[in-house]
Amino acid sequence: MYPNWILQRAYLTPLRNGLTYNGQTWTFQELNDLSLKRARQLTTLGIKQGDRIAIMGPSKPALVIMMYACMHLQCEMVMLNRRLSQAEIAYQLEDSEAVTVVIADEDVEKLPSQTTHHLFSTIEESSETTIDVAKEWPLQQTTSIMYTSGTTGFPKGVRQTVGNHQASATSSVLNLGLQADDAWLCAVPLFHISGFSILVRSLLYGNKVNLYNHFDVEAISENIVNGDVTHMSVVAVTLERILHTLEQNNAQASPKFKMMLAGGGPVPVDYLKRAHALNLAVAQTYGMTETSSQTATLANEDAMQKIGSAGKPLFFNQIRIAEPNANGEGEICIRGPHVTPGYIGRFAQKEALIDGWLHTGDIGYIDGDGYLFVLDRRADLIISGGENIYPAEIENVLLTHPAVQEAGVCGIEDDEWGQVPIAFVVLKEQVQVEQIQAFCQQKLAKYKMPKEIIITDKLPRNGANKLLRRKLMD
Ligand code: ATP
Ligand code: MG
Repeated sequence: MYPNWILQRAYLTPLRNGLTYNGQTWTFQELNDLSLKRARQLTTLGIKQGDRIAIMGPSKPALVIMMYACMHLQCEMVMLNRRLSQAEIAYQLEDSEAVTVVIADEDVEKLPSQTTHHLFSTIEESSETTIDVAKEWPLQQTTSIMYTSGTTGFPKGVRQTVGNHQASATSSVLNLGLQADDAWLCAVPLFHISGFSILVRSLLYGNKVNLYNHFDVEAISENIVNGDVTHMSVVAVTLERILHTLEQNNAQASPKFKMMLAGGGPVPVDYLKRAHALNLAVAQTYGMTETSSQTATLANEDAMQKIGSAGKPLFFNQIRIAEPNANGEGEICIRGPHVTPGYIGRFAQKEALIDGWLHTGDIGYIDGDGYLFVLDRRADLIISGGENIYPAEIENVLLTHPAVQEAGVCGIEDDEWGQVPIAFVVLKEQVQVEQIQAFCQQKLAKYKMPKEIIITDKLPRNGANKLLRRKLMD
């Protein structure tokens, strides 16, 4: 048994700030009091300890408090992504069999009609029923259920337990270190593991979260240059926007700022170099929904000599490469206390682990010094004349061209080679396709050259803003 994180944090450091939003701040004591009150109100509305409920709302304090209330009630929270379509939400509600949806008033339109739900406002106005809040939680208890991004197919509902989240937060801090005045800027969604793991770390470490409802690049960059924030999580697209803003304003990251964790997908090497020039430490991380956040992270001291690597596994975690080819490249497999016990719903029968290892569907290799390099998803691999081509490598090259904003590469059938790569680019300034081609020729082996480069205004992305390569050809 482990302590109820919210009670324990309020007991240890009641007066420390736990959350800031829009200039307003809440101490851990206040967060605990408010979430206990909401838990009593939820009880009045019929929600019982251990119920599986779905939850949705914008990244505002009301959502944080509602999540903490559900955690006090030991509910299994199905985290709904606000960017999903009604049909996608309907799928997740049916698949998860959540008994009800706890939803912010402004999001209720997103629900399929007839869905049983409780509005935040109804909960906040409800009377209170006395409850016995558990002071301890079992390690195997499911805290959250998150659906994978659905990049390779149907989203899978992943169980994340108390033990998974604790192991993840503990490994992370053993790597990054901790000071009382550390503050995490959270502009990633709370329904995704990148955001929710920031809340878990805050409760375990006693650090403040600076919450943003949307990615306000000006305000966020200002906080990095002049504010109190020390850590932040980004994906490649948001990192680029911050770099661009700092470059435009000729500004450097504040000496207080310690680390940017970049994950969710490959980060172009060029971004890492630009960040380095701005004094902005970026740690490339490798993680997934099934591992409740980071499995491996590249320490800043290694950033420049191992550029492009996702680093070494964190303290409790292990990584091995299954069935490596002659170059040592094969499927990345993960083991550790942060790995999910399994899926729910239609994937419940799918064993998450094979002989104790999570098979990720990602291809990578481990170099002679023990550093992990993630190449790409197995499903997106292009095999051309017997050679393996990783779309991410070609996208990386395209992105270093000054006129290219976004790039996506996939394979198409070819009579001679089986498959050949084809590229789609979004431009930030005018350029001839021939110029991009000439640029690629200098940097890519001939067999990796995209057969065609097509200019478009938008690339297909999913609710997590991830590139959907399987939809590029549409
Ligand atoms: P689905 O499983 O439904 O296809 P998804 O895998 O995109 O969706 P997530 O769990 O959000 O859903 O994403 C995890 C994946 O993101 C990893 O398996 C990997 O493919 C990719 N990823 C994460 N970090 C990195 C990284 N540093 N480099 C390359 N790819 C990464
Ligand atoms: Mg996946």
